[in-house]
Amino acid sequence: MKLFFFFLVLMQIFLFGEEVVPVAIIGSGPAGLSSALVTGKKGFATHVFLGEYPGGPLNAATGIRNWPGSVPGNGKQVIERLLDQLQKFNVQMHSETIVEVDFSARPFILTTSEGITYKAQTVVIATGTAFKELDVLGKKQGIVTYFYKSDAKRFEGLDVAVIGGGKDAVKKASLAASSARKVFLLVRGKNLEKSPKGKNIEILYEAEVREILRDEEKMTGLILSGGQKLAVDHVILAAGVVPNTNLFQGQIEMDEEGFIILEGRTQKTSVLGVFAAGNVTDMHYRQAITAAGDGTKAGYDVVEFLRRIGQ
Ligand SMILES: Cc1cc2nc3c(=O)[nH]c(=O)nc-3n(C[C@H](O)[C@H](O)[C@H](O)COP(=O)(O)OP(=O)(O)OC[C@H]3O[C@@H](n4cnc5c(N)ncnc54)[C@H](O)[C@@H]3O)c2cc1C
Repeated sequence: MKLFFFFLVLMQIFLFGEEVVPVAIIGSGPAGLSSALVTGKKGFATHVFLGEYPGGPLNAATGIRNWPGSVPGNGKQVIERLLDQLQKFNVQMHSETIVEVDFSARPFILTTSEGITYKAQTVVIATGTAFKELDVLGKKQGIVTYFYKSDAKRFEGLDVAVIGGGKDAVKKASLAASSARKVFLLVRGKNLEKSPKGKNIEILYEAEVREILRDEEKMTGLILSGGQKLAVDHVILAAGVVPNTNLFQGQIEMDEEGFIILEGRTQKTSVLGVFAAGNVTDMHYRQAITAAGDGTKAGYDVVEFLRRIGQ
């Protein structure tokens, strides 16, 4: 395996060496891929870093709501069509995750999880959001992130904990309660704005998960902040999302929650030549269509910038 990575690094150095790529896009959800569609189509060599979730969470959508004129197929099919479309414009896909950036001077430097560095004239940040609490709990078996009405049956006869105190948590607890044997709703605060529906739901206030208990095969329970032990088979995360921006801390302007701040109605960030698009800039709308719209705008902003600097 080590030999393979060594070979990969050598190949990348050989291929890209000191080359400065015109456009580097971090993230491959609707925002990143829509940016690539514009920059690729305009003839700029575009490199997309797919990250841990190629195509992003839309892959899990059974259909795409709110898309004007409607869009055929499920989320996965839409992403696949978009990737096919990008091939026509020679957009290069890299399976790596970016782990470090240096935006202090242009060309910007991006380092991947494999230790390869790329230099780029422009960067589009389209890294989306992650579920809160995932850092604490880890991406372990039994942790449920995406949970919709059609999934409710999967909890039949099981004991489940839902983490969160907002409307989303209440909705998910009620849905899970329609098939689960018991649902614990774990609320960090002291109250809940709406009551969940289900006689098998127990609400625990001021409850935070400290540890996940597992046997060799699966999750067996949780330990809460007060030391209380709960036997559960699954944990459903519903405590909101955080932007995937840790990587850019101290390098570009963000709000107090870590969402990237944009300049006016453009996709420009506080660093000239660095743009951002999609949910990483948006704590409010969080739709595929808004992310794709942002991505398209970012693509045009990149093209305008590159032409201005004579590329
Ligand atoms: C089940 C489900 C159903 C949905 N249904 C709809 C719907 O019907 N209609 C609708 O409009 N919206 C829907 N959404 C919401 C929609 O999927 C999101 O709003 C949209 O995906 C946001 O796009 P984005 O490009 O901003 O970020 P994301 O799609 O979250 O993509 C982020 C990308 O960044 C990558 N990434 C993160 N960090 C790094 C890094 N360090 N290096 C490299 N890459 C990185 C990830 O791998 C991922 O590819 C649904 C979501 C889900 C989960």
